[in-house]
Amino acid sequence: STDTHAPFEKKPGTPGTPRSTGELIRLEQVTKRFGDHTVLDHLDFSVDAGKHVTLIGPSGSGKTTILRLLMTLLKPDEGTITVDGEQLFPASEKQVREIRKKIGMVFQQFNLFPNMTVLRNITEAPVTVLGMSKDAAEERARELLEMVGLTEHLAKRPGQLSGGQQQRVAIARALAMRPQVLLLDEVTSALDPELVAGVLDVLRDIARSTDITMLCVTHEMNFARDISDRVLMFDQGRIIEAGAPEKIFSEPEHDRTREFLSAVL
Ligand code: ADP
Repeated sequence: STDTHAPFEKKPGTPGTPRSTGELIRLEQVTKRFGDHTVLDHLDFSVDAGKHVTLIGPSGSGKTTILRLLMTLLKPDEGTITVDGEQLFPASEKQVREIRKKIGMVFQQFNLFPNMTVLRNITEAPVTVLGMSKDAAEERARELLEMVGLTEHLAKRPGQLSGGQQQRVAIARALAMRPQVLLLDEVTSALDPELVAGVLDVLRDIARSTDITMLCVTHEMNFARDISDRVLMFDQGRIIEAGAPEKIFSEPEHDRTREFLSAVL
């Protein structure tokens, strides 16, 4: 039900950044090399606020590198990246901190704090980074835990949970910062097969019922088809085909896309 998602639509006063409209992410002529290997080759694309964009393509085609550039974990060799109108490189440390607050990321490995309870994992950054009161952060954490179906586990440590449960905590933790955009990097790849559906269901629910922008790297093609407004097919550091999921999955234009899809579907 939509009630479960009250933290997003009904709490405009919660600390965090105000929601933007229009173009939220823009890459222009972005090139990234590692040594003499060109991983991203003069890449252009943009993501509008509120949209769900999925990056697909073979392993090594540069998808994760894009998420890492957006998180400022890497620097491009050429080109410009803007998030919500602010250029990422060059940017002062203060600007980078402000931009990072707008971005939530969930990794393949959950990266939870092992010595903290589930609840504390979620409240830590809102309290220390956003300056939320402990009470307000806990209230919001409880709402998020309800949304990801983990209310009864809030006092446990990550090690007492399954991988799928840990990943749902990681999703709640990212959302607790009220980011404008959620970056999802193959978030189900490290999970046992029987735990994948629970995590994807939570993400489908978030995509359907919140205004958050999503940029996902995934090998789960049914999930990509369900949630995406647009799918970008990568090959060797370039976007070779982009479009609505119905188009990419049902009538791909490029041979490479057809080959890739027949190998993974
Ligand atoms: P994908 O997410 O599409 O699988 P990646 O963005 O992870 O692709 O990687 C693209 C290419 O960049 C791969 O060939 C990978 O080996 C290389 N690469 C990624 N990170 C590094 C790094 N830190 N140093 C050297 N090569 C890297």
